[in-house]
This record gives sequence, C-alpha cells and structure tokens, in this order.
Amino acid sequence: MKKVLIIHTGGTISMLENKETGEVNAADSHPLTKTIDQLKTFADIEELIMFDLPSPQITPNHMLKLANKVNEIIDGFDGVIVTHGTDTLEETAYFLDLVLTTDKPVVVTGAMRSSNEIGSDALYNLISSLRVAVDDEAKNKGVLVVMNDEIHAAENVTKTSTSNVATFQSPQFGPIGVITKDSIIFHRTVITRHKQPIETISKNVFLLKAFAGMDEQLLHAVSAANPDGLVIEGLGQGNLPKTTVEPIRNLLRKKIPVILVSRCFNGVVQPTYGYDGGGRQLKEMGVIFAQGLSGPKARIRLLISLEHTKDLSELVRLFS
Ligand code: ASP
Repeated sequence: MKKVLIIHTGGTISMLENKETGEVNAADSHPLTKTIDQLKTFADIEELIMFDLPSPQITPNHMLKLANKVNEIIDGFDGVIVTHGTDTLEETAYFLDLVLTTDKPVVVTGAMRSSNEIGSDALYNLISSLRVAVDDEAKNKGVLVVMNDEIHAAENVTKTSTSNVATFQSPQFGPIGVITKDSIIFHRTVITRHKQPIETISKNVFLLKAFAGMDEQLLHAVSAANPDGLVIEGLGQGNLPKTTVEPIRNLLRKKIPVILVSRCFNGVVQPTYGYDGGGRQLKEMGVIFAQGLSGPKARIRLLISLEHTKDLSELVRLFS
C-alpha cells in the first residue's frame, strides 16, 4: 500500500459549523482525523497538523515552511496532501509548484462547507485527493489542486465563486483531469513548469488592480513604501491609464521591477497598443509582461524570483 502524508494547515476543511449561530470556526480537534478509518482503504496514512489558520492569515513565510516540510519528509512517502483554506489556496499551491522539485504527487485541497454542514465537501475532497495522490499518473505533473471531482494545475486554477462547491476552475485551459467513482482520468499533461527552489522569502511585493480613472496616487504610495517589486493587473491586453505612466517610469528608474498581468481572467498580456499607457509603450519602458498568470500568482512568482535575482533583464528571462 502506498504511503501518504496529510498536512493540515486550517481553513474550512478543518472547521466545524456552530449549529446555534451558524458561525464556522476552528474545531477543538481536527474533524477529519476522526473519520480516518474511511481513508485507510486507500493508503497508509500519516497526518500532521502544521498550522490551524484560516487561509487569509497564511503568508508566503507559511508557504515556505510548508515547502521545507514537504522536502524534509518526501523521501519517506509516495505522495503528500495539503489541506488548506480555499481563499488563498491557489497562492499556496502555486508557491509549492514553483519551489518543490519532487516528481511525487503533491495535492492541495480544501472545502467550501465544513465537515458538519449539510452537503459538506470536506471528507469527499480529502478522499478524492487521496485517490489522486496514490495514482501513478499523478506523478510529474507539478502541484495539483483537487476539488469537486476535478484535478487542476496549480498555475491555472483560481477560486471563482464565494460559496459554490464548484468554485475552483481553470478558466483558460480547464482541469487537467477528472475523478469518477472508480477512476482518475488525466486528459492533458502539464508542460509549463518553472522550478525555482528558495531558502528564504524576504521581499516586499505589492499588487495593484488598474481601473478607469486610476491616477498616480496609489503608485506614489507604493513608491514611498520602497518595495522590492510591483505587480499590476492591467486593463485588457495590458494597458493602463496614461496618468500611471510617469510614476511607473520612476519605479523602473529606481530598478524596482514592475510586472504586468491582465485583470481579464482569460487571454494573455501583449504589447499591442502604442498610445500613452498602451502595452507597447509600457513594454518599451521596461515593464515585464507575465503571460497567463493572475495578479496574486504573478506576485508569488516575483517574490520567489527576487530571491534569485534583482537584475531586471534576468527577471524578464525568468518571466518569459
Ligand atoms: N475563509 C476560509 C479560508 O480560506 C474559506 C475556506 O476555507 O473555504 O480559510
């Protein structure tokens, strides 16, 4: 029987609903350890409660601790499952995808409804993750997110609904596999894998979302905070209001990398438009285009890349 480690970090999958108030909160003991017998048929399981945090409290430092733990134990296991709150699950999954080098399955999962809520997806998603973690086909596919009978690549997946159990989607490419009652079916493989192992996570990177009428104020505030980098979710194919151009030029003069993604969740940024604030002008100024990543994921990638280099041309290479 294969051996799997389940690492719990908190989130709804670790919580219970108070039947009187309806409030969902941390449980005295982990609700899913009680039902472990239902899991034992799939693998030889060990468990570790690493954090007990709602995922809005998870930081890149927690993600690095998690990655270090996976590296420390992976030789003794066939696969690892990380249970996590769904709010920032995609950031942790992508972080692990970038820094881990193991070919063994690492599956991140969560739940939209805690274990004692009607229609809970907590135990169901954990069992699905376990089935994926012991599947030979799950090897060498990067970090996987398993929720609601679907398997997603960490790079593409995002939480799309505040409360629906079908919240995790990969809008651009779809899931890489599905889970049926008796099989795990992968229907595409993951070809884009950027491996950047790190030992520290020490940089300060901001994320801004562009909007109609955006002016220089937020960019001045960012500049005053002396960041190590900035990610902007731009408009459409990668354009910004012209009022933002000068403050961005100033950040670049200070050798602060500015990464551009789109606030659209489909398509890629490209330097098409030549007007003031258009993508072509931004690219010529030295703004780095990150293709196909969401703002939060581009931020994770920049945080990790900055541990390797601050050189702008090297960063262009790392993001290409
Ligand atoms: N707010 C919760 C969290 O991310 C949501 C969840 O786990 O589904 O911790």
